[in-house]
Amino acid sequence: MDIEEFRKQGYAAIDRICDYYATLEERPVVSQVEPGYLRKLLPESVPEEGEPMEQIAQSFQDDILPGITHWQHPSFFAYFPSNATFESMLGEMYATCVNNPGFNWTCSPAATELEGVVMDWAAKMLGLQEDFLHTSGKGGGVMQTTASDSALTAVVAARSRYQRAHPDISLDKLVVYTTTQTHSLGAKAALVLGLSIRALPVEADDQYALRGEVFKAAVEEDKLKGRHPFILIATVGTTSSGAVDRLDEIVDVGKDYPDIWIHVDAAWAGVALACPEFREQAMLEHINAGAHSFCTNFHKWGLTHFDASTLWVRNRALLTTALDITPEFLRTKAADTGLVIDYRNWHLALGRRFRSLKLWFVLRAYGLSGFQAHIRKGVAQAQLFASLIQQSPYLQIFTPPSLSLVVFRLRDSDEAANRVFFGHLADRADVYLTHTEMNGKFCVRFAVGGVHTEEKHIRHAFEVVEEVAKRTIEERGLGVSLEAEAEGRTDN
Ligand SMILES: *Cc1c(COP(=O)(O)O)cnc(C)c1O
Repeated sequence: MDIEEFRKQGYAAIDRICDYYATLEERPVVSQVEPGYLRKLLPESVPEEGEPMEQIAQSFQDDILPGITHWQHPSFFAYFPSNATFESMLGEMYATCVNNPGFNWTCSPAATELEGVVMDWAAKMLGLQEDFLHTSGKGGGVMQTTASDSALTAVVAARSRYQRAHPDISLDKLVVYTTTQTHSLGAKAALVLGLSIRALPVEADDQYALRGEVFKAAVEEDKLKGRHPFILIATVGTTSSGAVDRLDEIVDVGKDYPDIWIHVDAAWAGVALACPEFREQAMLEHINAGAHSFCTNFHKWGLTHFDASTLWVRNRALLTTALDITPEFLRTKAADTGLVIDYRNWHLALGRRFRSLKLWFVLRAYGLSGFQAHIRKGVAQAQLFASLIQQSPYLQIFTPPSLSLVVFRLRDSDEAANRVFFGHLADRADVYLTHTEMNGKFCVRFAVGGVHTEEKHIRHAFEVVEEVAKRTIEERGLGVSLEAEAEGRTDN
């Protein structure tokens, strides 16, 4: 393809993308294909002769799109929002245009320097304190593929720090702490590194948040057994219910155990820190007071398409000491003298994508006020949905709504009824919600935050949910005196 052909095909591709977005709402949210559908449609091997671009683009429409679940659909309320914005897509095009692996400063100075600047912008936007900024000369931020990579990187750095402080302790004595509500990234990191893991219990009465006393008791117990907890992965906004671990207490307890690294995983909820009114709830003050590392994903609620996981550390030397294996051929004068960052020493891989460009496009195009408006819209929509649930005779809130996440279930019903309810809900093609289970209770999650989601989509989703709930209850003969209950009810 030459430049003029690319110009033509590029315009055509943008047209197709625009048509996709213009018709998005008419599509089923969830892909309706059967497993293995695609292999049947595609040739068994590479075509002998190259094909014209029109033909390939047509196959995308005909073969690929039916197998897509539309995460950008305004009625997508499953898992967590995963926003792609046009601003971020345009940034990606430029990043791809200058494609380079960016592992050190010399690869492309702008790729490293922009990441440093954008990570400082984002840190300030979220209210992270000076220590986490590159300008502090001590801390700084790095963009990773996912929150799982960010956590794994934090665990590697924490392990190396602990081993330097306690060279006599063998690896099999080290323990990673999570809670029973921590995302599987904790278990994954421990598995990859061959380390033990301990999931600390959380209680429904504490809204599934880890308490300081539970953390302390576990450390004391492990120490007696000759085991060495060296990192706690705390969560701000758990995946299941949006729980916020009690960092006020945890950081306080942590002062007695300065060798234990505190990593805060705020993959989904962290971007809400851009709005001052959510900072107390998200424990910003305590993150600033005591977290060694903090991660959030701009590729979820943060208007930037995958991948854009942002990780900040208070002490960058702890990352680079753990991860620097600079061979001679990669050494540069600028890096040796500490003049520049070589990001390959801040993460696991060598090569890396130019991720900061799309985030830079988003932050510039939206501005702080635009970013905040997007977050506030999601929270307001979740509150609307929660209030509708509370008014329904068929449904009840399970845990207090957390930012843009609402967890609910059938009113006064057992696990089996809730499973049936969710089964019916999952049959719907016009809305998409997912479920979770907390301490044995089966619940449905409603995760808001889509760029294209408007109030009417929230109301439609509620109508669907309520209709399905009513039908489930009627089917199961549980519908006795619901009206009476609807009047004299108290909400939990
Ligand atoms: C989504 C989520 C993750 C996983 O994020 P990846 O970037 O896919 O690894 C981790 N933790 C929490 C709390 C999440 O919501």
